[in-house]
Amino acid sequence: MSEFDLIARYFVRPAHPKNRAALGIGDDCALLTQKNGMQTAISSDMLVEGRHFFAGADAYKLGHKSLAVNLSDLAAMGAEPVAFTLALSLPNVDEQWLAKFSGGLFALADEHNCELIGGDTTKGPLNICITIFGQTAIGLALRRDTAQIGDDIWVSGTLGDARLALGALYKEYELDAKVLNAASVRLHTPQPRVALGLALRGIAHAALDVSDGLIGDLGHILKKSGLGASLNVDALPIGAMLQKQSLEMRRRFTLAGGDDYELCFTAPVSRREAVLGAALSANTPVTRIGSIEAATGTRLLDSDGKSIDLQLTSFDHFA
Ligand code: ADP
Ligand code: MG
Repeated sequence: MSEFDLIARYFVRPAHPKNRAALGIGDDCALLTQKNGMQTAISSDMLVEGRHFFAGADAYKLGHKSLAVNLSDLAAMGAEPVAFTLALSLPNVDEQWLAKFSGGLFALADEHNCELIGGDTTKGPLNICITIFGQTAIGLALRRDTAQIGDDIWVSGTLGDARLALGALYKEYELDAKVLNAASVRLHTPQPRVALGLALRGIAHAALDVSDGLIGDLGHILKKSGLGASLNVDALPIGAMLQKQSLEMRRRFTLAGGDDYELCFTAPVSRREAVLGAALSANTPVTRIGSIEAATGTRLLDSDGKSIDLQLTSFDHFA
């Protein structure tokens, strides 16, 4: 099968009235028409075999996750998904793999009305790189550098189950098969919080998605905003499977787990009702976990306000 047959068979889809690109796959570039008053939000994420997923990983879930991590970046900016490109390096043409991969990819793409408009296909080690395009009204994007002193800190959903599954897969410990299966859903098929990101526009001051662990990622907001924070460690929303593990594990994996793809955001105390309304409208639970303060650094407190000393590092590819 030639490169062009492969693209035509697995990645070109019939024209659909919901498509928003002025020109999609097939020319040298795709064309997107920019709407008046809107900005384009752009993000890329690469998934490398052996680094971000295990060799032999389920292709359908891989298709889902490749797009999910990119949609999560749009969610974190409060941007509405529009389109994406797919750069794919494949060791060989495995039609069964391609059918499953594109199936998982397009199922999530359709859920978010996000159209595949181009890409590149080459032979090489398995590597999946997606660039995603979203739109947001000028000035409304949720940034990292705009937290303010006194803001509440919030997080969506629950934390730690993806890390719990990863540790079991790496044989750090053993988990009951049922627990591992349930936790693995969070690791392999994260649900990007796009609706919540959109609902928080005009309410949240700052936001990002938690991909490398809460402490490290919140640290990006703090550094960019030139501020610090206190976190109530006992208030963190714990994954349903992590809930059953030791206190040490619960704390470590909620604070520094990684692969959660939840949103962490700050909002003024006066907008608590508005935040809860946004969460309700997006059908996504949110939990208030701390507050933004002038003194830099992150202070970890228990529910009595006593400080907790934990040695934690979040994930860094080159550390
Ligand atoms: P070029 O020669 O300009 O690099 P290609 O021959 O690589 O273009 O690709 C032909 C068309 O197919 C282009 O529109 C490109 O965007 C699209 N394409 C290539 N690979 C993929 C892919 N994996 N998914 C979606 N579209 C793709
Ligand atoms: Mg090309």
